Amino acid sequence: MPPGTHSWLEEVTGVLVTHEHPDHLDTAGIRWIQERGLPVWASRVDAPNLRRKGLTVHELDDGALGMAVERIPARHGRGLLSWLMGPVSGYDLAHPDEPSVYLTSDAVLTEERLEAVERLRPDVIIAPAGAANMGLGGDILFSVDELVTLVRRAPGEGPAGEAVRIARTECLL
Ligand SMILES: [Zn+2]
Repeated sequence: MPPGTHSWLEEVTGVLVTHEHPDHLDTAGIRWIQERGLPVWASRVDAPNLRRKGLTVHELDDGALGMAVERIPARHGRGLLSWLMGPVSGYDLAHPDEPSVYLTSDAVLTEERLEAVERLRPDVIIAPAGAANMGLGGDILFSVDELVTLVRRAPGEGPAGEAVRIARTECLL
């Protein structure tokens, strides 16, 4: 984790779970949430199972926390692999007093994601990338090229333009 992560984690007031893969939420993560009594926000799909794990879960629907919320189902791979990876929820979160955020969650680039950034015009896009794969069935996360394509499709010259430069820099390192 980057420097400063532990002090940032002390400021957490809630947790958004996009899907239930153990690299996102494992036993240690569940314990960490419970020890702090943090509320969890998740889709209607994931909420029942997360409650069975002992978490306090709210469904992240439109209007939650004073935000316009749109769930944008993600494709965590292509074809059969996407189905095997199970449901994954991306979100566009727009609070009137804050920059809007599109959290893609674990995804590959598809027309739905391109349509979402064009239509919703998020100020910030958070997109896990790195072209991870399982040795079969292709990538399960954005490649750098897909990330650049996504950001280039985003209208405006706001922070998303900066993300293109960041993606290019990462590519060179
Ligand atoms: Zn995942």
